Amino acid sequence: MSASSPTRWLFGDHLGPHFLDADDQPVLLVESRRAFVRRRFHRQKAHLVLSAIRHRAAELGERCDFRQVGGYAEALDGRASGGPLSVCHPTTRAALAFVRARPEVQVLPARGFATGMDEFAAWTEGRGARRLLMEDHYRAARRRLDVLMDGDEPAGGRWNFDEENREPPPKRPGRRATAGTPHTLGVPEPWWPEEDEIDEQVRADLDRWARDGDVAFIGRDGPRRFAATRAEALRVLDRFVAERLPFFGRYEDAMLADDAWMAHSLLSAPLNLGLLDPIEVVQRIEQAYRDGAVSIAAAEGAVRQIIGWRDYVWHLYWHLGADYPAGNALRARRALPDWFAELDADAVQARCLSGVLADLRDHGWVHHIPRLMVLGNWALQRGWRPDEVTDWFHRAFVDGYEWVMVANVVGMSQFADGGRITTKPYAAGGAYINRMSDYCGPCRYRPTVRVGEDACPFTAGYWNFLHRHRADLEGNHRMVQAVRGLDRLADLEPLLDQERRRGSAAP
Ligand code: SF4
Repeated sequence: MSASSPTRWLFGDHLGPHFLDADDQPVLLVESRRAFVRRRFHRQKAHLVLSAIRHRAAELGERCDFRQVGGYAEALDGRASGGPLSVCHPTTRAALAFVRARPEVQVLPARGFATGMDEFAAWTEGRGARRLLMEDHYRAARRRLDVLMDGDEPAGGRWNFDEENREPPPKRPGRRATAGTPHTLGVPEPWWPEEDEIDEQVRADLDRWARDGDVAFIGRDGPRRFAATRAEALRVLDRFVAERLPFFGRYEDAMLADDAWMAHSLLSAPLNLGLLDPIEVVQRIEQAYRDGAVSIAAAEGAVRQIIGWRDYVWHLYWHLGADYPAGNALRARRALPDWFAELDADAVQARCLSGVLADLRDHGWVHHIPRLMVLGNWALQRGWRPDEVTDWFHRAFVDGYEWVMVANVVGMSQFADGGRITTKPYAAGGAYINRMSDYCGPCRYRPTVRVGEDACPFTAGYWNFLHRHRADLEGNHRMVQAVRGLDRLADLEPLLDQERRRGSAAP
């Protein structure tokens, strides 16, 4: 393939070399301001996306027709040559409809995922009426891609090391001696990018747009923490595999108030910008295992996130259909309150929720357990509209895209699909948060208390949720025991009254 190949139109999440067919292929790259005008994104997400697009345009140099415009139609209509374009399958339904309506655009299969759409379709057809379990998709992908396999058997003799990968966080050593110092996992920090003149220009533009009233953001500005170029993404990957992966699995579900990053890879943002190919990432992880540098549990836990979960939610976005995001099986009708929508951590006394909102406000990112078991759990308990919650997750997280959040939030976190992809709602009380974090100790609430001044709002909210959805959940064999627990609560009426009065107020 040479420069005579049709110009490749790169979307802002198609930024790695695997979205091109040749080193000299001409490129169209569009920076569209319209997305930021319509919705309030996290400031650091807007920065990352613009920085990544502009860095790619600079790298491609003269072969890149870089257009900074209001919208895609303006960019395409304004092209001098007007010749044919090819584009890899976009990542939203709206963008797909747009490219399909343009006669000059050839739409190619999706890239940037480990499982192709035809492969996923063949897998779903083979399942008949059986539930589309992530675990089964993941095992099929491991076999097909020959990742962490010893012949026909999974490396280490098991497919799943979740048992080893659910440890609570380590206790603070020598509590008295270390009082006042942050309690972290103590692993080497992630590799942090250094901002350059392109970031400086992005920051100046975002400041100006906000000043002019063209756009508004949530969250705080701060140093760019996530990779915006392929070179940066490879540095993050190198550091993760060499120094942080050994600790990833054990503590992947744990939370520490002073350690937002723990041993997480921070690769979701560069993967979702298309800067890395998931196959190269899992190959690096597998090599570390084969070299004896990391345990099978650590390697398997990381591989599961990438070719398991990430690909699964990507394919479900398309497979479950355009109506799926409107699902509301639990009839949740409350709007998101401003304190939550605006990431107002200071309005919240509950230490876990306040801490997670503060991390999100300051970085545009928290790892998957605070997302699911603190933020999502709270929204589920309070009966907030799943479409609003999904939109908020999309806008507030640097790695959030429509395809990422639909199955994760509508299905998994808010159970708004009635159980098509999970077997039970992810609702939990303070006992879970107490076991898996160090938030509860200094909190003004007590995780075991249900009613009164010290009542943990997560614990009370959990029982309130079960009571509200008793009829929905008592037929679910994984929830029946929990629902029956309501009958043993002597203080259920005062608890319900307390939660009615709390409403959507910040806890
Ligand atoms: Fe969160 Fe309740 Fe623990 Fe406080 S006591 S940190 S509100 S779970």
